[in-house]
Amino acid sequence: MEGTENHGRRKSRLEVVERKAEAVRLMFQLYASGKGYKAIVGRINREVYRTKLDNAFSVAQIKSILTNPVYIGKVRYDVRRDWNEKRRNNINPNPIVADGKHEAIISEELWEQVQFMISQKNGKPARIYDGEYPLTGILKCPQCGAGMVISRTTNRNKDGSKQKLTYYACGNWKNKGTTVCHSNMVRVEKANTFVYNQLDKLLSDEKFFKEVVGRVNREHRILKENAIKEREVQEKSLEKIKVRQQRNHELYEDSEISREEFLTRREELNRQLCELREKQTETSMVIPLN
Ligand SMILES: [Zn+2]
Repeated sequence: MEGTENHGRRKSRLEVVERKAEAVRLMFQLYASGKGYKAIVGRINREVYRTKLDNAFSVAQIKSILTNPVYIGKVRYDVRRDWNEKRRNNINPNPIVADGKHEAIISEELWEQVQFMISQKNGKPARIYDGEYPLTGILKCPQCGAGMVISRTTNRNKDGSKQKLTYYACGNWKNKGTTVCHSNMVRVEKANTFVYNQLDKLLSDEKFFKEVVGRVNREHRILKENAIKEREVQEKSLEKIKVRQQRNHELYEDSEISREEFLTRREELNRQLCELREKQTETSMVIPLN
């Protein structure tokens, strides 16, 4: 199906996964070093794709990869508000993120740095769910109402040793500076403990607890049903792309299309295939392939 010239260098699935990981790592590093999307896409496609991957990356893909918690070992649920709707603005701004059962490709530190840089660019703090900092974006600045984000300071103790402290701070202050708002910092441990204690009280209320569990179960069932539907759609799309690839080759071999036309179509089909694989990876995180 892939075409005769690909036969000699067909890559194993594992090798492609490793190459992809390498590309993802480089994307995060480049973004963190201040490179723009265009510069990143250029370099990735020049250095990684040409030599090691079958498909080139697009700017849209890089944007989506840079915000996908899959790469720090987490799973993102509920990305689309309604699975049957294909509209672009159908993306849930507050997806549920949980620990996955897969390996992290990049460090949480690098991930956090990139999310912060993206949020600065967008002019609003990203809603990042993190086990250690669960109140990020949920906690609101008491002064201006902006979502609070993580801020770190290093204090020097009297004996010269350093102590790192982590705070929730006003997102407006962190993004735009003191002309807009004050830091209004609160220690992460203090805020977390307060909220956990309140949650503890709520959860010891049996009726409330059962309601919450029931809701989570319902949402999980819907999530799984949606993923199954989505997988069916993906499998059909994959078949279609394969048929088109086959057809493209036949047309070229029968000299019905020019080499240029053949290459353009092949490039486009490869791009579609790459996008589809990305979606399949996400779906397989929700319902693992048998
Ligand atoms: Zn504020």
